[in-house]
Amino acid sequence: MTKTYGRVHALDQVDLDIRSGEFLTLLGPSGSGKTTLLMVLAGFTRPDSGSLKFGDTEVIRMPPHRRDLGMVFQNYALFPHMTVAGNIAYPLRLRGIGRAEREARVVRALETVQLGGYGGRRIDQLSGGQRQRVALARAIVFEPRILLMDEPLSALDKKLRDRMQIELRHLHEQLGMTTVYVTHDQREALTMSDRIAVIDHGRLMQLGAPREIYDRPANRFVADFIGESAFLPVRRKGAEILCAGRPLATESPAPEGEKLLAILRPERLQLLDGSVPPEINAFPATVSELVYQGDSFLMAARLEDGTELTLRDVVRRDTFAELPGPGSAVTLGLHARDTVLIPDDGAGAAP
Ligand code: ADP
Ligand code: MG
Repeated sequence: MTKTYGRVHALDQVDLDIRSGEFLTLLGPSGSGKTTLLMVLAGFTRPDSGSLKFGDTEVIRMPPHRRDLGMVFQNYALFPHMTVAGNIAYPLRLRGIGRAEREARVVRALETVQLGGYGGRRIDQLSGGQRQRVALARAIVFEPRILLMDEPLSALDKKLRDRMQIELRHLHEQLGMTTVYVTHDQREALTMSDRIAVIDHGRLMQLGAPREIYDRPANRFVADFIGESAFLPVRRKGAEILCAGRPLATESPAPEGEKLLAILRPERLQLLDGSVPPEINAFPATVSELVYQGDSFLMAARLEDGTELTLRDVVRRDTFAELPGPGSAVTLGLHARDTVLIPDDGAGAAP
Protein backbone atom coordinates (compact mmCIF):
# COMPACT_ATOMS: atom_id res chain seq x y z
CA MET A 1 0.00 0.00 0.00
CA THR A 2 0.94 3.62 -0.53
CA LYS A 3 -0.22 6.71 1.37
CA THR A 4 0.95 10.25 0.69
CA TYR A 5 0.31 13.51 2.50
CA GLY A 6 1.18 16.22 -0.02
CA ARG A 7 4.75 15.38 -1.01
CA VAL A 8 5.39 13.15 2.01
CA HIS A 9 5.32 9.41 1.40
CA ALA A 10 3.97 8.23 4.75
CA LEU A 11 3.76 4.71 3.27
CA ASP A 12 5.75 3.92 0.15
CA GLN A 13 4.71 0.63 -1.48
CA VAL A 14 4.73 -1.27 1.81
CA ASP A 15 4.24 -5.00 1.27
CA LEU A 16 3.99 -6.92 4.52
CA ASP A 17 2.65 -10.31 5.52
CA ILE A 18 1.77 -10.59 9.21
CA ARG A 19 1.46 -14.14 10.53
CA SER A 20 -1.50 -15.25 12.56
CA GLY A 21 -0.63 -15.24 16.26
CA GLU A 22 2.72 -13.48 15.96
CA PHE A 23 4.03 -10.45 17.82
CA LEU A 24 5.19 -8.15 15.04
CA THR A 25 6.82 -4.80 15.78
CA LEU A 26 6.93 -1.82 13.45
CA LEU A 27 10.22 -0.12 14.29
CA GLY A 28 11.49 3.13 12.83
CA PRO A 29 12.45 6.71 13.66
CA SER A 30 9.87 9.40 14.31
CA GLY A 31 7.97 10.27 11.14
CA SER A 32 8.80 7.00 9.37
CA GLY A 33 5.15 6.00 8.90
CA LYS A 34 4.55 3.57 11.79
CA THR A 35 1.36 5.20 13.08
CA THR A 36 0.05 5.64 9.55
CA LEU A 37 0.44 1.92 8.92
CA LEU A 38 -1.29 1.07 12.20
CA MET A 39 -4.15 3.46 11.35
CA VAL A 40 -4.56 1.77 7.98
CA LEU A 41 -4.76 -1.62 9.72
CA ALA A 42 -7.34 -0.21 12.14
CA GLY A 43 -9.38 1.39 9.36
CA PHE A 44 -9.02 5.02 10.47
CA THR A 45 -6.84 5.90 7.46
CA ARG A 46 -7.51 4.83 3.88
CA PRO A 47 -4.37 4.33 1.74
CA ASP A 48 -4.17 6.00 -1.70
CA SER A 49 -3.70 2.61 -3.28
CA GLY A 50 -3.19 -0.95 -2.22
CA SER A 51 -4.96 -3.80 -0.57
CA LEU A 52 -5.38 -5.06 2.99
CA LYS A 53 -6.51 -8.60 3.70
CA PHE A 54 -7.36 -10.34 6.96
CA GLY A 55 -7.00 -13.93 5.87
CA ASP A 56 -8.65 -14.03 2.44
CA THR A 57 -11.02 -11.15 3.12
CA GLU A 58 -10.33 -7.74 1.60
CA VAL A 59 -11.01 -5.24 4.41
CA ILE A 60 -9.81 -1.94 2.91
CA ARG A 61 -13.41 -0.61 2.84
CA MET A 62 -14.49 -2.19 6.12
CA PRO A 63 -15.19 0.37 8.89
CA PRO A 64 -13.02 0.18 12.04
CA HIS A 65 -15.71 -1.16 14.38
CA ARG A 66 -16.24 -4.20 12.16
CA ARG A 67 -12.57 -5.17 12.01
CA ASP A 68 -12.47 -6.86 15.43
CA LEU A 69 -9.39 -5.03 16.71
CA GLY A 70 -8.21 -4.05 20.16
CA MET A 71 -6.15 -0.87 20.36
CA VAL A 72 -3.81 0.65 22.94
CA PHE A 73 -2.27 4.09 22.50
CA GLN A 74 0.50 6.03 24.18
CA ASN A 75 -1.93 8.33 26.04
CA TYR A 76 -4.25 5.53 27.26
CA ALA A 77 -7.44 7.42 26.23
CA LEU A 78 -9.32 6.14 29.30
CA PHE A 79 -12.57 7.75 30.48
CA PRO A 80 -11.51 9.62 33.64
CA HIS A 81 -15.03 9.88 35.09
CA MET A 82 -15.61 6.10 34.97
CA THR A 83 -14.25 3.46 37.29
CA VAL A 84 -11.67 0.94 36.17
CA ALA A 85 -14.42 -1.67 35.68
CA GLY A 86 -16.57 0.86 33.80
CA ASN A 87 -13.74 1.56 31.39
CA ILE A 88 -13.05 -2.10 30.73
CA ALA A 89 -16.76 -2.94 30.32
CA TYR A 90 -17.24 -0.17 27.75
CA PRO A 91 -16.37 -2.18 24.59
CA LEU A 92 -18.60 -5.02 25.86
CA ARG A 93 -21.48 -2.58 26.33
CA LEU A 94 -20.95 -1.33 22.76
CA ARG A 95 -21.27 -4.91 21.58
CA GLY A 96 -24.49 -5.42 23.51
CA ILE A 97 -23.14 -8.04 25.89
CA GLY A 98 -25.36 -8.60 28.96
CA ARG A 99 -24.53 -7.52 32.48
CA ALA A 100 -23.58 -10.87 34.04
CA GLU A 101 -21.32 -11.81 31.16
CA ARG A 102 -19.81 -8.32 31.21
CA GLU A 103 -18.96 -8.52 34.88
CA ALA A 104 -17.37 -11.94 34.53
CA ARG A 105 -15.24 -10.83 31.58
CA VAL A 106 -14.11 -7.65 33.33
CA VAL A 107 -12.95 -9.68 36.33
CA ARG A 108 -11.04 -12.03 34.05
CA ALA A 109 -9.43 -9.17 32.08
CA LEU A 110 -8.37 -7.47 35.33
CA GLU A 111 -6.75 -10.67 36.51
CA THR A 112 -4.97 -11.10 33.18
CA VAL A 113 -3.28 -7.70 33.57
CA GLN A 114 -2.66 -8.34 37.29
CA LEU A 115 -5.10 -5.72 38.57
CA GLY A 116 -7.49 -8.11 40.32
CA GLY A 117 -9.61 -6.18 42.88
CA TYR A 118 -9.02 -2.76 41.24
CA GLY A 119 -12.41 -2.63 39.45
CA GLY A 120 -13.96 -0.05 41.79
CA ARG A 121 -11.06 2.42 41.69
CA ARG A 122 -11.23 5.71 39.85
CA ILE A 123 -8.74 6.22 37.01
CA ASP A 124 -7.11 9.18 38.76
CA GLN A 125 -6.29 6.92 41.73
CA LEU A 126 -3.99 4.81 39.57
CA SER A 127 -0.30 5.10 38.67
CA GLY A 128 0.85 5.42 35.06
CA GLY A 129 1.68 1.74 34.81
CA GLN A 130 -1.69 0.73 36.27
CA ARG A 131 -3.54 3.01 33.83
CA GLN A 132 -1.66 1.44 30.97
CA ARG A 133 -2.72 -1.99 32.16
CA VAL A 134 -6.36 -0.83 32.34
CA ALA A 135 -6.06 0.36 28.73
CA LEU A 136 -4.68 -3.05 27.84
CA ALA A 137 -7.48 -4.86 29.68
CA ARG A 138 -10.01 -2.76 27.79
CA ALA A 139 -8.34 -3.68 24.49
CA ILE A 140 -8.36 -7.44 25.14
CA VAL A 141 -11.65 -7.86 27.08
CA PHE A 142 -13.71 -8.59 23.97
CA GLU A 143 -11.06 -11.01 22.68
CA PRO A 144 -10.30 -9.26 19.40
CA ARG A 145 -8.47 -11.23 16.73
CA ILE A 146 -5.81 -8.53 16.40
CA LEU A 147 -4.25 -6.27 19.03
CA LEU A 148 -2.71 -2.98 17.85
CA MET A 149 -0.44 -0.97 20.14
CA ASP A 150 1.12 2.41 19.32
CA GLU A 151 4.07 3.24 21.59
CA PRO A 152 2.03 2.17 24.64
CA LEU A 153 4.95 2.34 27.09
CA SER A 154 6.63 5.57 26.05
CA ALA A 155 5.03 7.65 28.83
CA LEU A 156 6.36 5.34 31.56
CA ASP A 157 9.69 5.64 33.34
CA LYS A 158 12.47 3.27 32.34
CA LYS A 159 12.19 0.68 35.12
CA LEU A 160 8.44 0.31 34.70
CA ARG A 161 8.83 0.23 30.91
CA ASP A 162 11.34 -2.62 31.17
CA ARG A 163 8.96 -4.59 33.39
CA MET A 164 5.92 -3.92 31.22
CA GLN A 165 7.84 -5.12 28.14
CA ILE A 166 8.29 -8.51 29.76
CA GLU A 167 4.68 -8.52 31.04
CA LEU A 168 3.27 -7.72 27.60
CA ARG A 169 5.40 -10.46 26.12
CA HIS A 170 4.08 -12.98 28.67
CA LEU A 171 0.53 -11.82 28.05
CA HIS A 172 1.01 -12.38 24.34
CA GLU A 173 2.28 -15.91 24.99
CA GLN A 174 -0.76 -16.53 27.17
CA LEU A 175 -3.41 -15.11 24.81
CA GLY A 176 -1.79 -15.90 21.45
CA MET A 177 -3.42 -12.88 19.84
CA THR A 178 -1.92 -11.51 16.62
CA THR A 179 -0.22 -8.34 17.84
CA VAL A 180 1.15 -5.38 15.90
CA TYR A 181 3.24 -3.18 18.13
CA VAL A 182 4.75 0.21 17.27
CA THR A 183 7.91 1.60 18.82
CA HIS A 184 10.90 3.76 17.93
CA ASP A 185 12.95 2.01 20.64
CA GLN A 186 15.16 -0.69 19.16
CA ARG A 187 15.83 -2.42 22.46
CA GLU A 188 12.11 -2.65 23.14
CA ALA A 189 11.58 -4.15 19.69
CA LEU A 190 14.38 -6.70 20.18
CA THR A 191 13.03 -7.66 23.62
CA MET A 192 9.40 -8.21 22.70
CA SER A 193 9.01 -9.29 19.10
CA ASP A 194 8.74 -12.51 17.13
CA ARG A 195 9.56 -10.41 14.08
CA ILE A 196 10.48 -6.80 13.47
CA ALA A 197 9.58 -4.70 10.43
CA VAL A 198 12.09 -1.86 10.16
CA ILE A 199 10.59 1.20 8.46
CA ASP A 200 12.20 4.39 7.15
CA HIS A 201 10.51 7.12 5.12
CA GLY A 202 7.45 4.93 4.64
CA ARG A 203 9.49 2.07 3.20
CA LEU A 204 9.97 -1.40 4.60
CA MET A 205 13.75 -1.73 5.03
CA GLN A 206 13.89 -5.24 6.50
CA LEU A 207 11.56 -7.82 8.00
CA GLY A 208 12.96 -10.54 10.22
CA ALA A 209 13.41 -12.08 13.66
CA PRO A 210 15.30 -9.92 16.19
CA ARG A 211 18.56 -11.84 15.79
CA GLU A 212 18.39 -11.70 12.01
CA ILE A 213 17.80 -7.96 12.11
CA TYR A 214 20.65 -7.42 14.56
CA ASP A 215 23.20 -9.92 13.27
CA ARG A 216 22.39 -9.77 9.55
CA PRO A 217 21.16 -6.27 8.78
CA ALA A 218 20.22 -5.96 5.12
CA ASN A 219 21.48 -2.44 4.61
CA ARG A 220 23.21 0.52 6.18
CA PHE A 221 20.06 2.08 7.57
CA VAL A 222 19.14 -1.04 9.57
CA ALA A 223 22.73 -1.60 10.76
CA ASP A 224 22.93 1.99 11.95
CA PHE A 225 19.46 2.28 13.48
CA ILE A 226 19.64 -0.99 15.43
CA GLY A 227 22.65 -1.14 17.68
CA GLU A 228 25.82 0.82 17.01
CA SER A 229 28.03 0.33 14.00
CA ALA A 230 31.11 1.65 12.29
CA PHE A 231 31.36 1.00 8.55
CA LEU A 232 34.50 0.12 6.61
CA PRO A 233 34.55 0.21 2.82
CA VAL A 234 35.57 -3.14 1.33
CA ARG A 235 35.79 -4.37 -2.26
CA ARG A 236 35.12 -7.63 -3.98
CA LYS A 237 37.97 -8.69 -6.25
CA GLY A 238 37.25 -12.03 -7.90
CA ALA A 239 36.50 -14.46 -5.08
CA GLU A 240 38.21 -12.27 -2.49
CA ILE A 241 36.94 -9.52 -0.25
CA LEU A 242 39.58 -6.87 0.32
CA CYS A 243 39.72 -4.30 3.11
CA ALA A 244 42.41 -1.62 2.72
CA GLY A 245 44.19 -3.93 0.25
CA ARG A 246 44.24 -6.92 2.63
CA PRO A 247 41.96 -9.98 2.44
CA LEU A 248 39.05 -10.00 4.86
CA ALA A 249 37.81 -13.27 6.38
CA THR A 250 34.04 -13.59 6.58
CA GLU A 251 31.66 -16.49 7.11
CA SER A 252 28.57 -14.65 5.91
CA PRO A 253 27.61 -14.51 2.23
CA ALA A 254 28.59 -11.24 0.57
CA PRO A 255 25.80 -9.30 -1.15
CA GLU A 256 25.88 -8.50 -4.88
CA GLY A 257 28.09 -5.73 -6.22
CA GLU A 258 31.72 -4.71 -6.05
CA LYS A 259 31.47 -1.94 -3.45
CA LEU A 260 30.54 -3.25 0.00
CA LEU A 261 30.71 -2.18 3.62
CA ALA A 262 31.85 -4.24 6.60
CA ILE A 263 29.87 -3.63 9.81
CA LEU A 264 31.88 -3.30 13.01
CA ARG A 265 29.83 -3.49 16.22
CA PRO A 266 31.45 -2.32 19.50
CA GLU A 267 30.59 -5.52 21.41
CA ARG A 268 31.90 -7.80 18.63
CA LEU A 269 35.37 -6.22 18.49
CA GLN A 270 38.08 -7.57 20.75
CA LEU A 271 41.44 -6.34 21.91
CA LEU A 272 44.13 -8.56 20.38
CA ASP A 273 47.45 -9.30 21.87
CA GLY A 274 50.14 -11.60 20.46
CA SER A 275 49.69 -13.71 17.33
CA VAL A 276 46.50 -13.48 15.31
CA PRO A 277 44.75 -16.67 14.14
CA PRO A 278 43.53 -16.66 10.49
CA GLU A 279 39.82 -16.54 11.41
CA ILE A 280 40.31 -13.17 13.10
CA ASN A 281 40.47 -9.95 11.06
CA ALA A 282 43.01 -7.59 12.63
CA PHE A 283 42.79 -3.80 12.51
CA PRO A 284 45.80 -1.79 13.76
CA ALA A 285 44.61 1.39 15.47
CA THR A 286 45.50 4.13 17.92
CA VAL A 287 43.44 4.60 21.08
CA SER A 288 41.77 8.02 21.18
CA GLU A 289 39.63 7.60 24.27
CA LEU A 290 39.01 5.17 27.11
CA VAL A 291 35.83 5.55 29.16
CA TYR A 292 34.85 3.69 32.35
CA GLN A 293 31.11 2.98 32.50
CA GLY A 294 30.78 0.76 35.56
CA ASP A 295 29.75 -2.59 34.17
CA SER A 296 31.59 -2.00 30.89
CA PHE A 297 34.18 0.22 29.26
CA LEU A 298 34.29 1.96 25.89
CA MET A 299 37.46 2.31 23.90
CA ALA A 300 37.49 4.60 20.88
CA ALA A 301 40.33 3.98 18.44
CA ARG A 302 41.30 5.43 15.07
CA LEU A 303 42.40 3.31 12.12
CA GLU A 304 45.20 4.44 9.79
CA ASP A 305 42.61 5.73 7.29
CA GLY A 306 40.95 7.86 9.98
CA THR A 307 37.91 5.61 10.58
CA GLU A 308 36.83 5.75 14.22
CA LEU A 309 35.97 2.39 15.80
CA THR A 310 34.46 1.75 19.20
CA LEU A 311 35.00 -1.34 21.30
CA ARG A 312 32.89 -2.20 24.32
CA ASP A 313 33.67 -4.92 26.81
CA VAL A 314 32.83 -5.85 30.36
CA VAL A 315 35.00 -4.48 33.13
CA ARG A 316 36.51 -7.32 35.11
CA ARG A 317 37.77 -6.60 38.59
CA ASP A 318 41.17 -4.84 38.63
CA THR A 319 41.76 -5.09 34.89
CA PHE A 320 40.53 -1.64 33.88
CA ALA A 321 43.74 0.07 35.05
CA GLU A 322 45.79 -2.15 32.74
CA LEU A 323 43.92 -1.21 29.57
CA PRO A 324 45.86 0.84 26.97
CA GLY A 325 45.11 4.55 27.27
CA PRO A 326 44.88 7.36 24.69
CA GLY A 327 47.81 7.40 22.25
CA SER A 328 48.59 3.68 22.64
CA ALA A 329 48.91 1.48 19.57
CA VAL A 330 46.47 -1.44 19.70
CA THR A 331 45.16 -4.15 17.38
CA LEU A 332 41.41 -4.66 17.28
CA GLY A 333 40.10 -8.03 16.15
CA LEU A 334 36.85 -9.11 14.52
CA HIS A 335 36.07 -12.80 14.16
CA ALA A 336 35.17 -14.00 10.64
CA ARG A 337 31.74 -15.11 11.89
CA ASP A 338 31.07 -11.58 13.17
CA THR A 339 32.25 -9.98 9.92
CA VAL A 340 29.04 -9.02 8.16
CA LEU A 341 28.91 -7.30 4.77
CA ILE A 342 26.20 -5.08 3.35
CA PRO A 343 25.87 -3.30 0.01
CA ASP A 344 27.46 0.16 -0.10
CA ASP A 345 24.32 1.94 -1.26
CA GLY A 346 25.91 5.36 -0.78
CA ALA A 347 23.23 6.30 1.78
CA GLY A 348 24.33 8.44 4.68
CA ALA A 349 24.00 7.68 8.36
CA ALA A 350 20.61 7.30 10.01
CA PRO A 351 19.42 10.25 12.11
P1 ADP B 1 5.57 7.76 12.96
O1 ADP B 1 4.38 7.19 13.65
O2 ADP B 1 6.54 6.75 12.47
O3 ADP B 1 6.27 8.82 13.77
P2 ADP B 1 3.61 8.88 11.13
O4 ADP B 1 2.95 7.71 10.50
O5 ADP B 1 2.86 9.58 12.21
O6 ADP B 1 5.07 8.49 11.61
O7 ADP B 1 3.91 9.96 9.99
C1 ADP B 1 4.58 9.65 8.79
C2 ADP B 1 4.69 10.91 7.95
O8 ADP B 1 3.41 11.31 7.50
C3 ADP B 1 5.27 12.10 8.71
O9 ADP B 1 6.06 12.84 7.82
C4 ADP B 1 4.04 12.86 9.12
O10 ADP B 1 4.33 14.22 9.27
C5 ADP B 1 3.10 12.60 7.95
N1 ADP B 1 1.69 12.61 8.37
C6 ADP B 1 1.09 11.69 9.16
N2 ADP B 1 -0.22 11.96 9.33
C7 ADP B 1 -0.45 13.10 8.63
C8 ADP B 1 -1.62 13.91 8.40
N3 ADP B 1 -2.83 13.57 8.92
N4 ADP B 1 -1.47 15.00 7.63
C9 ADP B 1 -0.28 15.32 7.08
N5 ADP B 1 0.84 14.62 7.25
C10 ADP B 1 0.77 13.52 8.02
MG1 MG C 1 3.67 7.50 15.63
